Amino acid sequence: MTRLILATRNTNKVAELHAILADAGLHHELVGADAYPHVPDVRETGTTFAENALLKARALAAATGHPAIADDSGLCVDILGGSPGIFSARWAGTHGNDRDNLELLLAQLSDIEDAHRGAHFTCAAALVLPDGTERVVEGQLRGTLRHAPTGGYGFGYDPILQPDGETRTCAEMTPDEKNAISHRGKAFRALVPVIRELVH
Ligand code: IMP
Repeated sequence: MTRLILATRNTNKVAELHAILADAGLHHELVGADAYPHVPDVRETGTTFAENALLKARALAAATGHPAIADDSGLCVDILGGSPGIFSARWAGTHGNDRDNLELLLAQLSDIEDAHRGAHFTCAAALVLPDGTERVVEGQLRGTLRHAPTGGYGFGYDPILQPDGETRTCAEMTPDEKNAISHRGKAFRALVPVIRELVH
């Protein structure tokens, strides 16, 4: 059985990809980056989601000798020309402070009416093989930004993104409901035929 490494320490992401692979009849051994504690986290110096996903997957494939998958995601707001984009996690300056990031974005958009509050989550997922073969796929979830946060599930900007065709925000959906339509779910599902083709 081929071992696949997912470049994350988030066990929920590993479980999500594991379920998608199993549903597709792919039974590779999937492990998170935690299985390789000596491999340092990569600095995300890319200028696109795809570049950052590739940087993370390349580093892990090179260090472990196994095929590696990495994802990079964020929120792109139409009226901000696609920002926060790759800066989503550090929009308010403190890396990983979800609440500050969300509050700053809401303040920036406070005068913007609903018709102009379109946005999408994007996820780039990269597969890199130890022989240097590389593929990147992407998934998006489009919606509208609310004026105030609602809902207790999820993380990041989930409490303010209401997906198109929904009456709830992402943070009002259960994890399973969100995974079924999310940018990351779409990107991971788009990886299935790529893994089937390249990883044996
Ligand atoms: P990461 O690449 O998955 O670590 O995501 C980077 C940042 O983008 C996170 O810190 C969040 O601010 C934002 N983000 C990415 N995906 C989501 C999501 O599904 N919901 C809410 N925020 C997200």
